[in-house]
Amino acid sequence: MADDGFHVYDTTLRDGAQQEGLNLTVADKLAVARHLDALGIGFIEGGWPGANPKDTEFFRRARTELDLKHAQLAAFGATRRAGVKAADDPLVAALRESGAPIVTLVAKSHDRHVELALRTTLEENLAMIRDTVSHLRAEGQRVFLDAEHFFDGYKSNPSYALEVLRTAAEAGASVIALCDTNGGMLPDELGGVVHAAVGTGARIGIHCHDDTGCAVANTLAAVAAGATHVQGCANGYGERSGNANLFTVVANLQLKKGFDLVPRQSLGDMTRIAHAITEVTNVTPNSHQPYVGTSAFAHKAGLHASAIKVDPNLYQHIDPAEVGNDMRMLVSDMAGRASVELKGRELGYRLSSDQSRQLVDRVKELESRGHTFEAADASFELLLRDTVAGERKRHFSVESWRVIVERRPAGDIVSEATVKLHAKGERIVATGEGNGPVNALDKAVRLALEQLYPELAAVQLVDFKVRILEGTLGTDAVTRVLITSSDATGEWATVGVDENIIEASWQALEQAVTYGLLRAGHTV
Ligand SMILES: [Zn+2]
Repeated sequence: MADDGFHVYDTTLRDGAQQEGLNLTVADKLAVARHLDALGIGFIEGGWPGANPKDTEFFRRARTELDLKHAQLAAFGATRRAGVKAADDPLVAALRESGAPIVTLVAKSHDRHVELALRTTLEENLAMIRDTVSHLRAEGQRVFLDAEHFFDGYKSNPSYALEVLRTAAEAGASVIALCDTNGGMLPDELGGVVHAAVGTGARIGIHCHDDTGCAVANTLAAVAAGATHVQGCANGYGERSGNANLFTVVANLQLKKGFDLVPRQSLGDMTRIAHAITEVTNVTPNSHQPYVGTSAFAHKAGLHASAIKVDPNLYQHIDPAEVGNDMRMLVSDMAGRASVELKGRELGYRLSSDQSRQLVDRVKELESRGHTFEAADASFELLLRDTVAGERKRHFSVESWRVIVERRPAGDIVSEATVKLHAKGERIVATGEGNGPVNALDKAVRLALEQLYPELAAVQLVDFKVRILEGTLGTDAVTRVLITSSDATGEWATVGVDENIIEASWQALEQAVTYGLLRAGHTV
């Protein structure tokens, strides 16, 4: 652990994933964890192993697939059930076996919740906390405790709520996070309660929900009252009104309060990372989000315009570059020449300065039309290869494709696609059927090419994300499709953009297959 002085703790993968409409695969979770690590976040809560099979798999794959530079993983779970030993509770065992260096235990601190939800005695609840914390400590894990409904609990029975904190701390929990679980607190009231909790001598953290629109303010109030551990979610994700937006919290504390939470350079990547995460979650970015929104530093032309040019500082609360934003910004980190060259070298290409300028121009142009290369690494590499080769080189060329969608008399809907391709000097016509147009196109294109490239049998379409991008500058809305494909050794993502969703899907599909062939060793 580099520095245990002040904790930034992310719970996007557990609490944030409760957001309505947000559905993360294990691969998505790993991708989000990588982004958070790149930002320099200290702790990433990966989920609840044992209770949720996807989360069990996340921790298993994290061991080999995550190479975290800053962050440590935390596994979330509950204290043992009433009336059994922690050592014998299978859910506690799943936490122990998760391989996570930290376990965050949720515990009741509200007397009424203990009696009504847990249906046990106040004494037994304390015993459950004591036993579970000390058991996991003895097994070599670090333990944090989330005191659920703490603020309402403190209102209901302050001495019991504080007794929960003391019990956990004495048993070896290194942080106790006070949770405003229903998000109903206001900053002025919250500060006093945090102050009382700090008085127990336990190390105090804070976990806020945004139901009063005060999650970030409450978090800052808690820090002012002595909390040294803040929890929150990327982009403020979370159920109902969301959790405290961790990006806003970090930027506020670091830029306004002088805390040294993440490396300065990483903070300069915050805007890019916030947007890259929206590509994974497929949640439309909030352009008004503080610090990282595209509108966060955008000024309306007119009255101020000329004055802004003379001295932008008069109109901005910080220099937007500190968080990687701009008065009018380009989202992508690819847009800079240095980063394009770097990415090229990473992929094994040496670009001349002419080539990298060309590539940057092309990336900027495509991004302005709605492409995203943050989340489509394979599309970027194909673009890079085209630039180096000086022409567009592919294993096959497309003469035409066609999709029919039919609603049959019984009510089922079937799609049928025909593709006509040229490859290795042959003209191939193939037809595929599927439950949707993209599925049918995917089948047809593989059928056409598998005779020539049998390796394609191992390539699978594993994820398909669609987003409608609002039209800008008088243009119509366009559809962006991101496709993730896999073979035996890994995954890659490609992007397509068009006004027509099937054409956008086709573009992503064609690149997905091309990239799959390159991975299989077929150069063109
Ligand atoms: Zn929560």
